[in-house]
Amino acid sequence: MEIQTLSPEVVNQIAAGEVVERPAHLVKELVENSLDAGATEVEVELDEGGRQVRVRDNGKGISPEDLALALSRHATSKIHVADDLWHLNTYGFRGEALASISAVSDLSLISRRQGAESAYELKSHYGSLIEPIPVGGEEGTLVWIRDLFANLPARLKFLKSDQAETTQIRNVLKAMALASPEVNFRVRCKGKLLHYWPGTGDPIERCQLVLDHEPLYFCEGEENGFKVKAVFSAPHQVVGNNRQIWIFVRGRWVNDRGLATAVMEAYRNLLMHGEYPVVALWLDCPPDEVDVNIHPTKSQVKFRQQPQAFRAVVHVLRAALEKAPWLSGILQDQTVSASHQHVLDSDRSLSVEITPPTLKFEDQELTRTQYQQKSGWAPRSPSQVKEPTISLEDLRRAAQVSVHAPDDSTPEAGEALATKGKWSSLQVLGQAHLTYIVAQSDDSLVFVDQHAAHERVAFEDLMAAWKDGKIEVQNFLLPLTFNLDPEQIEALMEQVPYLEKMGLAVEQMGPESVAVRSAPALLKESGIAKALKWLGEEIVDKGGSFALEKVIADLCATMACHSVVRAGQALSLEEMKGLLREMDRHPLSSFCPHGRPVFVEYPFSKLERDFGRIV
Ligand code: ADP
Ligand code: MG
Repeated sequence: MEIQTLSPEVVNQIAAGEVVERPAHLVKELVENSLDAGATEVEVELDEGGRQVRVRDNGKGISPEDLALALSRHATSKIHVADDLWHLNTYGFRGEALASISAVSDLSLISRRQGAESAYELKSHYGSLIEPIPVGGEEGTLVWIRDLFANLPARLKFLKSDQAETTQIRNVLKAMALASPEVNFRVRCKGKLLHYWPGTGDPIERCQLVLDHEPLYFCEGEENGFKVKAVFSAPHQVVGNNRQIWIFVRGRWVNDRGLATAVMEAYRNLLMHGEYPVVALWLDCPPDEVDVNIHPTKSQVKFRQQPQAFRAVVHVLRAALEKAPWLSGILQDQTVSASHQHVLDSDRSLSVEITPPTLKFEDQELTRTQYQQKSGWAPRSPSQVKEPTISLEDLRRAAQVSVHAPDDSTPEAGEALATKGKWSSLQVLGQAHLTYIVAQSDDSLVFVDQHAAHERVAFEDLMAAWKDGKIEVQNFLLPLTFNLDPEQIEALMEQVPYLEKMGLAVEQMGPESVAVRSAPALLKESGIAKALKWLGEEIVDKGGSFALEKVIADLCATMACHSVVRAGQALSLEEMKGLLREMDRHPLSSFCPHGRPVFVEYPFSKLERDFGRIV
């Protein structure tokens, strides 16, 4: 006989390799057990890079007769029948973790049920059990692991330095703490307190503490049965990698590239290349919408309707970003500034009253010439500007949108209510370096990059025109035909009505070819094939209208950049005020489409400190 059934010892070691490949996985399993047991206090102590671990909780505990079962494979209190897998409300369900861990360590399980008289301890030495005995102990459970992998020298060799393993463990613990903000966590390493995260009902507070990043903002919303909650950073408060995007699906920390992409999608055009936001995202949905049983460490899930999940995340987060909550702390609200607004109506009296004497911006013309003389800097004449300069007016005409008088309260303007009036309520002091609008609010000096600001406005106008189907279209007398992958063609064909709204009329000609009857005038004929292929790929990957918007947003960003006022262009006071009013028409006006900030702000309190007026 060649084929043999493996001994339970070998089976356990194989399974342990999957479930507890590294100490961090082990810690995750133990803490998940504590949370499943309803603990409100979890304490983790580490040593030797996680080869010694103690996890203590105040959960419901395990009765003495169940102790041995807890350590046996496929023994769980969390599910009973296969169907339960689709209605999970616990982290654990396989009944494997403790069995696997006990096969590769020296383990003590000490537990006292709530209300029980005594705690009991069950010891396991690499899988062989010693009869439970009563011991002293609090209500709840303590799992104590020593000499992890000592019986598997081969596996020990795969462990990284103690420090690297500890970092992994801390990462896992951060995730657990973000998943359960209401639970108290204490983390000790080599006897020293590393983290204390007190339980809180406030997700922002928890995230700021655990992720060590502030300020952060909160949003929530629901779409197609997907409930989204997120704590997020402003697009100008970013980090250099995507490791601060934390995703939880039904409370479970997952590594889901699709949802991480959705988060980035929400920040589209707000970040520069290589910038990533800080985001904790909690996605909730009916349990049968996700399969959590597709990965040994349960760190990945599969959605029944991935595109819907993706969309819900983008929409909720994007809407929150469009409200630009960080602005409310920086620029004043219209309501607050009512009196200020009143003064603003008569600029002359204002400049006398408020303009600090050291800033001589009263006479715009004079200031500008003086400035040029002083700095030896002259504006470029139009002929020196290489790119064709289209004015905002031209741009609007091209997009066939009506131009609103700045003070007009149009229905569209209602969308921008969150930030409405903030920019125009600033008092313009002048233009600096022919590049920046210098303005002030009640409590700060604000510098606005005129190019970035105008670019943002033009971009939003273009996007709006596109969305309203008001974009200029070129019709082809003879349809252009292209070859594409059948999969991409199929994806494109599902989006035909949406494509048409965008001016793109596409028809399937054969299994691998499509004909284009019309396209947005902005697309070069030679670029259409590339755009279609890109579009097809994006729709296959991410589904639906997002792909389209992404392509269009990129186009609009490029267009907008080449069509607006440049740095080095003199602006009159009226033009500057007009530009600020324009900015109020759109949400998100604090970043240009390429992600550069539109404004920089100096609080007077900082100036006062710098001048030694306050200490
Ligand atoms: P699973 O979590 O998949 O059920 P485990 O091997 O992690 O499998 O745990 C086995 C069982 O032991 C659990 O179903 C639970 O009943 C019990 N258990 C484990 N840890 C704890 C704990 N900290 N508090 C209470 N019960 C626990
Ligand atoms: Mg478990």
